[in-house]
Amino acid sequence: MNARTKHIPIRLSGRAEGIEELAFTVAPSDLALPAEFSAPLDVAVRLDVSSDQIVLRITVAGEAVYPCDRCLDPVRLPVKSRFTLVYNTGDNEAGDVESDDVRVIDHTDPVADLSDDVRDAALVCIPMRITCGEDEQGKALCKTPIPDHLNADAQERTDARWDALKSLKL
Ligand SMILES: [Zn+2]
Repeated sequence: MNARTKHIPIRLSGRAEGIEELAFTVAPSDLALPAEFSAPLDVAVRLDVSSDQIVLRITVAGEAVYPCDRCLDPVRLPVKSRFTLVYNTGDNEAGDVESDDVRVIDHTDPVADLSDDVRDAALVCIPMRITCGEDEQGKALCKTPIPDHLNADAQERTDARWDALKSLKL
């Protein structure tokens, strides 16, 4: 076990059966999120505790500000994500089967940290391509004139991920 600070600690042992709601406000830097995540994240956790498992329904809300790919103006991106985690107590027959969706409570350290899960959930809210948006005719809504050397549409992408696609020779 590492001694890293748990920024979103959830105690998984000794809880009464039933529904419980927890709320956290977390600084993006505590989750090692990039500086573009400008505001604290609201993390709501609904615990559904039964004798053999605890189901966590987690809602992450916040925002990030990234530069537009075309004009570099700041674009506000809402961060809104929901996911579910299941922790087995390990007391039932299926209790020692662990998968991506089902985890087993570590009784030597029964306080789970949701930091990694919340960071991943926040990052998937950021699209690959970020622009100021388009009107109904598909015209870019960028207000700042776009310098040619920054205009992604007037320029070959040099992103390595695109090179990998080109080499597929479709
Ligand atoms: Zn723009």
